[in-house]
Amino acid sequence: MISLSKSRYCGLWQCPKIAWLKKNKPDLFMLEDSIKERMKMGNEVGDLAMGLFGDYVDVTVKDGDKLDLPKMIARTQEEMTKGTAVICEASFCYNGLYCAVDILRKNGDGWDIYEVKSSSREDEKEEKKYKQVYIADIAYQKYVLEHCGIKICGVHLVQLNKAYVFDGNLDIHKLFIISDVDEEVALEEQNIAGNLAVAEKVLNSPTEPDYDLSINCKNPYLCGFWNYCSRHLPSPSVFNLYRIHFKSAVKLYKEGCISYEDLDKRSDISSKTQQRQIECYLEDKGTIIEEDNIRNFLGTLTYPLYFLDFESMQTAVPKYIGTHPYAQIPFQYSLHYIENEGGNLEHKEFLAESGPDPRRALAEQLCKDIPMGVTTVVYKKGFEGMILNQLAEAFPDLREHLLAIKEGLRDLLVPFQSGYYYNKDMGGSFSIKNVLPAVFPNDPSLNYHNLSGVQNGGEAMTIFPKIKDMASAERDKARNDLLRYCELDTYAMVKLWQELVRVSG
Ligand code: SF4
Repeated sequence: MISLSKSRYCGLWQCPKIAWLKKNKPDLFMLEDSIKERMKMGNEVGDLAMGLFGDYVDVTVKDGDKLDLPKMIARTQEEMTKGTAVICEASFCYNGLYCAVDILRKNGDGWDIYEVKSSSREDEKEEKKYKQVYIADIAYQKYVLEHCGIKICGVHLVQLNKAYVFDGNLDIHKLFIISDVDEEVALEEQNIAGNLAVAEKVLNSPTEPDYDLSINCKNPYLCGFWNYCSRHLPSPSVFNLYRIHFKSAVKLYKEGCISYEDLDKRSDISSKTQQRQIECYLEDKGTIIEEDNIRNFLGTLTYPLYFLDFESMQTAVPKYIGTHPYAQIPFQYSLHYIENEGGNLEHKEFLAESGPDPRRALAEQLCKDIPMGVTTVVYKKGFEGMILNQLAEAFPDLREHLLAIKEGLRDLLVPFQSGYYYNKDMGGSFSIKNVLPAVFPNDPSLNYHNLSGVQNGGEAMTIFPKIKDMASAERDKARNDLLRYCELDTYAMVKLWQELVRVSG
């Protein structure tokens, strides 16, 4: 007999090696910080969804940090016997197979299963990426409950409604969308016996199963073993190629095209950036500079010249009026500017108070700090443009000014991403955090790792909402850390722009 939890079953469903590694080498499990943050948001969403059907009983019991499953199973039985209509975290075990159902709801002489996910149904990319594993997850729950003798009448997926707009009163019936997934789950149920047989074999084996890298490795929701499983790859490898589709990278890998030496012989690497990556790595061509293209780009920038960077936060459940799930809420910006050619570099900054809606104060200050009709340089224009659009929509009186700032945006990413300025240290990533050390490898003032405290956008968005609960000294330090971090972002842009000016003669 094997012991399997719902999450371990889903891991196994994706790749049996995940389940084996989780059991035998759990210390190797590593998830990106952004995914961990997303999971934390999921807890808030789950708690909120418990109220979808009125009164409920949550049978969660903890023993320290861990769930006390035997007690949860016992409490579930008690509540079912009592006739409780809605039981949250309802827990069951059949033959070593455990699961806790997010919401179990009485339906006639049977029960309905509701699985709550913090993804939003309107986000097609997310939907495609995760939907199948959600179905596997629900099918497993249904299997366990039915084998415990419980009649299941319906199975449902509960997801956030991205179109929901918060009007000051949170309406959870509009915030969530409930889909019936009976048909998909019925199809998936046919695979359960086979999956459990694989689980039995894999989990009882003392030796690591031999599963090579595949398209299944793509799902970061479940597998945190990429670093371990890919340790045999050369660096760089096909997986580091600029914007390569994961499926294409796996295909090349399976064909034995793994190193840049292997890829150099391929005629199907047609992207200019990918070709340049490979050439520069193999031949070490130093820095490639396309002067004409750089000059053309610089010709689109006119004085006065502003360099802008926003920091923003995201919450699954909207907190501010007019926002929707996962909206980007800007709370900070840094602005460097030069009035005239040869003029001094000046700096302004804004950091909202943590707690209240930061957008109005930020938008007002931004309109004071950036005049209409000027050039504003950003790095990755799509993000700053989206923030300006959202602010313009939220504050009609500032709309004209905010859209004028948006009109003047110029994207400093373009000359690097387009290969006008390239060296091999950029690899396949053109984020400013990657480009900066590649262009200025020996300047400690441009090294994000030399900042005390906040060193990336993820840390900024995590720390900002917490500041409101900090004691004074801690708060001052956190605010200062945020200010210095954001300032470095725009200072970095200034330095990159100066470098382009220098090399273009
Ligand atoms: S990285 Fe890939 S092969 Fe390794 S455990 Fe995860 S899914 Fe399986």
